[in-house]
Amino acid sequence: MIKRVEVNYRGIFQKNLGKKIGSDIVMIASRMGQKAFSNGRYSDSPERNGIPCKYFAFVSPDLPEEELEAECGAKLEIDETNISVVLDDTMCKGVEPWGWHGIRPINEKVIKDGCLLVVSRKKPEELLKFIGKKPYNYRIAILDGDASLAGLWVNKDDLTHERILGGIAAIDPALISIEAVESYLMEKTKQKHRAEAARAAFESLRAEAKPPRVKLVTPKEGIDWPHEKPVLPKWFEMQEGAVVPAVKRGFEVGPRGQSRNAMFKRGTTKTQRPAVRFDLCTKCTLCWAECPDECFDPTKDGFYDIEYQYCVGCGKCAEICPVKECIVMVDELRFEDDSSPYEHWKKDSKDYIQWVEDKKGKDRVSYPFVTGKGITVTQGEVMPEGKIVGIKKTEEAEL
Ligand code: SF4
Ligand code: SF4
Repeated sequence: MIKRVEVNYRGIFQKNLGKKIGSDIVMIASRMGQKAFSNGRYSDSPERNGIPCKYFAFVSPDLPEEELEAECGAKLEIDETNISVVLDDTMCKGVEPWGWHGIRPINEKVIKDGCLLVVSRKKPEELLKFIGKKPYNYRIAILDGDASLAGLWVNKDDLTHERILGGIAAIDPALISIEAVESYLMEKTKQKHRAEAARAAFESLRAEAKPPRVKLVTPKEGIDWPHEKPVLPKWFEMQEGAVVPAVKRGFEVGPRGQSRNAMFKRGTTKTQRPAVRFDLCTKCTLCWAECPDECFDPTKDGFYDIEYQYCVGCGKCAEICPVKECIVMVDELRFEDDSSPYEHWKKDSKDYIQWVEDKKGKDRVSYPFVTGKGITVTQGEVMPEGKIVGIKKTEEAEL
């Protein structure tokens, strides 16, 4: 018997976190007398930040090491998982684990009675608005917390790693037991708070926990998957050499007018997206000029629409916009689709302002990319329609 754990992580920012989880599952399962190994698959691309990638851990109580490796080690794409860990809940909208080869459901590999373990502050019902239906029952377990996003190649040491190990122990004690997790962490780190974090996560996922954080998901729950499920080409179907179709040349002013590469949409890389108040926009051009992914479309009346399918959520536009509350980064899971905000605004500007403020909410969340620091939450302000207030780095002034 082989049990498989997949760790879905955001490329570069969570790579070392994913790797630590995978390798510690191996160490802990081995201490329990099982055979185990871990590997990873990093789908590289020119624009790597935030790309959904995977680490894997394979555990067997009865196979010899060579057989386990022969069965699992040579495969780059695994067929099924007992547990799929999701380190950033915005990946519930779908992942592109093979570079830019199409958007797959986050639970695609979860087997019958398997489990999707998600780090999130949302309820399973809220996540199921984005997750594809399965033809059988499985579970969603929520480990309370925010996406642990660190700097490039850096592990943000905020105990997410230990908490995931505790969560896995609660879901399947035969895979790794909480006692084995605790003793391993104590021996390895000599730091009690790490073992305690694992134990607290374990307790939070137990059936008796209040509120319950594990939900049984039936075939009726979830959505009909809106994207075409990609099929990787077989080796004998591949052509000699590679042909990359050129981007169609052209540019039209207006929503979606830019000529962009249809093969290189990067919308699944983002944890937050920019929300724009067009009534506060001074048409300064800075967001359009500075966006590294050319997501802004100039409009005939001088505004800048956003094409979210290409936005990577880097936050540069929100940083550079000189007007208070004009561009704000908002949790990606608050948005159902990638429709044009400008078209909504033109259709009904009052309705749009209400809609965008609802999406923004009160909290302004930022992720300082410094190891060991949590997220920063400040309070925003609802600006009256058309009230333009400039921002300076150190002070604010009326324009
Ligand atoms: S967050 Fe803003 S600057 Fe960054 S890719 Fe998206 S639209 Fe462009
Ligand atoms: S940076 Fe802000 S004010 Fe300037 S054009 Fe963009 S949205 Fe408008």
